[in-house]
Amino acid sequence: MTFVLQETLRLKKRYGQHVIVSPGVIKAIVKHANVREGETIVEIGPGTGNLTVELLNTPLKKLHLIELDEEMIQTLKKRIADERVEFHHADATKFDFCKLGDSVKLLGNLPYNVASLIIENTVFHKECIPFALYMIQKEVAERLIKGGSWLSIFLRTFYSIEYIMSVPARFFKPPPKVQSSLIKLTRDEKAKVEGLKNYKAFLVKLYSMKRKAIKSKISQDLLKKAGINPMARVEELSLEKILFLYECL
Ligand code: SAH
Repeated sequence: MTFVLQETLRLKKRYGQHVIVSPGVIKAIVKHANVREGETIVEIGPGTGNLTVELLNTPLKKLHLIELDEEMIQTLKKRIADERVEFHHADATKFDFCKLGDSVKLLGNLPYNVASLIIENTVFHKECIPFALYMIQKEVAERLIKGGSWLSIFLRTFYSIEYIMSVPARFFKPPPKVQSSLIKLTRDEKAKVEGLKNYKAFLVKLYSMKRKAIKSKISQDLLKKAGINPMARVEELSLEKILFLYECL
């Protein structure tokens, strides 16, 4: 399905293209990004550039745009001519953000179909990302904050999450079927975790078959060592308990 925005541009559903058309929402995002002089900013999925244009009114030093849709980039290049901008035709779910600097701020109205993967990739590059501001599906935002998924634990181990605001579908074009939320991630490492890949694998295993008692996934010896009831379900465990269990491994 496509949606005609201008005569020349069709928005593509497969790329999760829902552009923000509310100046108020765009201003709010830029305000919460709190861009200071000399900062390097990375915008994920700039799309038609509505947010990009507003970002360029801040004292940022460099703005990297990561966009997967080549056609979108060509359109964007016609709209944006600023020497602080660098275009990257790339996939934000796999992009190595650390090659852009040792401290970069990420933000964007994310493509909702891959928002979780982009958040995961953010955590994998946490060394160079002290801050991220993402528009995502409201339901996903709530689940990340409440817990109840491996990604929520993975994210909250290294970042604190602040719920900034809900954004109704009518502020996007075309309006998505879901409500949206803006969330702010601030790096705040609750533990020194060695080996992120192992940690992810551990959490994925822990959160598989959520209804099963934890003893079906983790050895009884280890649970005893960590002082965890073997009959507990993973959702009953706090972040601290999970971290302690991982340390006991
Ligand atoms: N921020 C824009 C549009 C957001 S829509 C605005 O608010 O106006 C999401 C954007 O992400 C689209 O431009 C889409 O092409 C792009 N996109 C989709 N998948 C992507 C990926 N994996 N990596 C980078 N960009 C992607």
